[in-house]
Amino acid sequence: FERKKILVLGAGYAGLQTVSKLQKLLGHQDADITLINKNEYHYEATWLHETAAGTIDWEDGVYPVSKVVDASKVKFVPAEVTAIHKDEKRVETNQGDFEYDILVTALGFESETFGIEGMEEHAHSIVSPQTALAARHEIERNFANYKNSGAEKDISILVGGAGFTGVEFLGELVESVPVLCEKYGIDYSKVNLTCVEAAPSMLPMFPENLTDYAVKYLEDRGAKFMIGTPIVAANEDGFVVKIDDEEQQLEASSVIWTAGVRGNSLMEESFDGVKRGRIVVKPDLTIEGYEDIYVIGDVAAVMNGEGDDARPYPTTAQIAMQLGEHVAKNIELTLKGDKKEPFKYDDKGTVCSLGSKDGIGIVMGREIKGKKAAFMKRVIDSRAILKIGGPMLAYSKGKFF
Ligand code: FAD
Ligand code: NAD
Repeated sequence: FERKKILVLGAGYAGLQTVSKLQKLLGHQDADITLINKNEYHYEATWLHETAAGTIDWEDGVYPVSKVVDASKVKFVPAEVTAIHKDEKRVETNQGDFEYDILVTALGFESETFGIEGMEEHAHSIVSPQTALAARHEIERNFANYKNSGAEKDISILVGGAGFTGVEFLGELVESVPVLCEKYGIDYSKVNLTCVEAAPSMLPMFPENLTDYAVKYLEDRGAKFMIGTPIVAANEDGFVVKIDDEEQQLEASSVIWTAGVRGNSLMEESFDGVKRGRIVVKPDLTIEGYEDIYVIGDVAAVMNGEGDDARPYPTTAQIAMQLGEHVAKNIELTLKGDKKEPFKYDDKGTVCSLGSKDGIGIVMGREIKGKKAAFMKRVIDSRAILKIGGPMLAYSKGKFF
């Protein structure tokens, strides 16, 4: 009997949860498990807006992958995947090639600029610790240089998109910007925080009373919203928006694009039928025609049903972790010669933070706001670490204190 080679690509929520569960389910002799990730560390992608605003240090939201991996069962290789050859069952990386019998693809998300002119060159994004830090450094540089620059113009920060990421980022900014003002001796009235949203309303998944609460919370602390205002270009002066069919330049010292994500672009290069970096998966989480290739997390389109009305679930860390656990179980079933089981999503709700002390959400079907929502967000953030890495890791990296 030959041991199967299981190869997991990506140590985000989906990939690391898969490995964490696999090493519990399988014995030393059951399989050869290899995990490949670009960095030696895992980062909490759901905390990146905090790094970008400077309310946490980037180290707070990362931990070594080795803290989770049981080295006696799993080989961890820090390497960058450069190609997946699905028909040869081979993956290329910058550290050499890897063959597999079973592949788990969990390569995560990137920024999506929808081809908007100038966006990639002129706007920051919040999609990795590196991009979040770049945004944070630029914001702080503008405060540090303000007095030297003649202090004629206000400091303007433009946030593109009022989805979850945009709103949570603004929640952090209204906490960190007053601290920066204090540090560099700048009056808060000299700072403009503006969020531009194309749709006629924001956060449509929440009832109006909760969205109104979030808007009021942020407006009371100095943020402004331009709703129903599509961004059509970015340049070195800021965003170009469309108002009443007329293009208008919005000037800013920092521009941050939080208006969309897509799956990893390696997906298009490796598989057929991929849209915006995501491929539709079957109920058992493999892809059509490839019984041994699982695709999970932000690179997967997991449908909420069958037929023409079926829609993909939103890509979140919550579903990514459930997918990871399910794949581990299906792999165990396959190794035992049993049939794989279909995935069922258990939606526990959503919380949108407004900085560290406030928020809105629907949890287990109940609406929450204020401190309770902020508390729930910390529970959710800490639970992810607990589920993947266990109590010791949650104790050191969780948001308990
Ligand atoms: P990722 O977390 O993107 O992990 C992918 C991993 O693969 C990374 O470690 C990456 O380094 C690695 N990788 C990528 N390319 C390569 C390569 N070529 N070779 C090797 N390794 C590679 N969701 C929620 O449920 N709740 C929230 O509160 C929430 N908040 C969010 C806040 C922000 C600011 C953002 C941007 C997203 C948030 N999300 C939230 C969404 C959530 O972060 C994603 O859905 C989740 O990260 C997807 O997990 P994943 O494992 O698929 O991918
Ligand atoms: P999103 O796609 O959910 O929101 C993007 C927003 O930008 C939308 O409101 C959209 O109308 C707007 N937009 C798009 N193009 C625009 C344009 N040209 N001009 C102006 N506005 C424009 O993206 P996101 O907020 O980054 O979320 C990505 C995923 O991560 C989602 O699945 C989300 O559920 C998840 N997420 C969850 C949480 C949470 O649970 N607290 C936090 C962050 C992200």
